[in-house]
Amino acid sequence: MTHGRCLCGDIHYEVDGPFTIATHCHCSMCRKHHGTPFATWAAAPLAGFRYTKGEDKVGRYASSPGFHRSFCTNCGSAMPEALESAGMVTCPAGSLEGDIGVEPSMHMFVGSKAPWHEITDDLPQYEEFPPQFGMQATPRAEAETTGSDVQGSCLCGEVAYTISGPPLVMYYCHCLRCRLGRSAAHAANVFFKADGLTWLRGAELVRDYQLPEAKFFGAAFCGRCGSKLPRVSLERNVATVPAGSVDNDPGMRVQAHIFVDSKAAWDRITDQVPQFAGMPPR
Ligand SMILES: [Zn+2]
Ligand SMILES: [Zn+2]
Ligand SMILES: [Zn+2]
Repeated sequence: MTHGRCLCGDIHYEVDGPFTIATHCHCSMCRKHHGTPFATWAAAPLAGFRYTKGEDKVGRYASSPGFHRSFCTNCGSAMPEALESAGMVTCPAGSLEGDIGVEPSMHMFVGSKAPWHEITDDLPQYEEFPPQFGMQATPRAEAETTGSDVQGSCLCGEVAYTISGPPLVMYYCHCLRCRLGRSAAHAANVFFKADGLTWLRGAELVRDYQLPEAKFFGAAFCGRCGSKLPRVSLERNVATVPAGSVDNDPGMRVQAHIFVDSKAAWDRITDQVPQFAGMPPR
């Protein structure tokens, strides 16, 4: 049995398993919902899935016909989705604890891959769903952007922002908090000065979750669709921007993998980007 949870701990679930397949998905919906270059999904029989705490805290957004995106309404972590017709549940692997007994075996929707992320492993790649899934992709229009400033939006489109000023640094963080907060292999954050951030619309929908035991750690997300959004620390004048929420180019590529000592057992780092066990040296 495998245990899963959101960042704040309001929601817990169990999966009897076994997990039969895990896939990396680069579709624009996964990128926005998780704020990362891709989401990793692990599938198991639906009959062995149950929420053990906080099912009433699960928010659901209808992302495309027949598909939902589930998330914790308190902290924004993405949660599992039942695929009733297939009798399966598909879990965001970043929310699962320990060894899940299966490794990601493919990349799907690479036709929608983020331009700032490079795939460097040797797993098979599919433009959309792999043929063996027998599923049809729903086309989705990318958000329009104008000008040269970095712009981003959530999956439902109600929240949009722009950031002026140069990006300071970009990290892929593999720490447990980032894995739970993004429900993914790692966070992918671009840092800017906070005073460059302007909400173009939907600022009232942005929810901010602050992890009580941390000085600065938290998550910002759209209360309607659960997509990850920039989080502002006025105290430090820093905006932490989930790269997956960016609609044009974030103006930077990943500078380092950080907290790799905490990475998930199923997560393989295959690129040449510098790695740090914890925080990078100043
Ligand atoms: Zn939560
Ligand atoms: Zn996807
Ligand atoms: Zn939204």
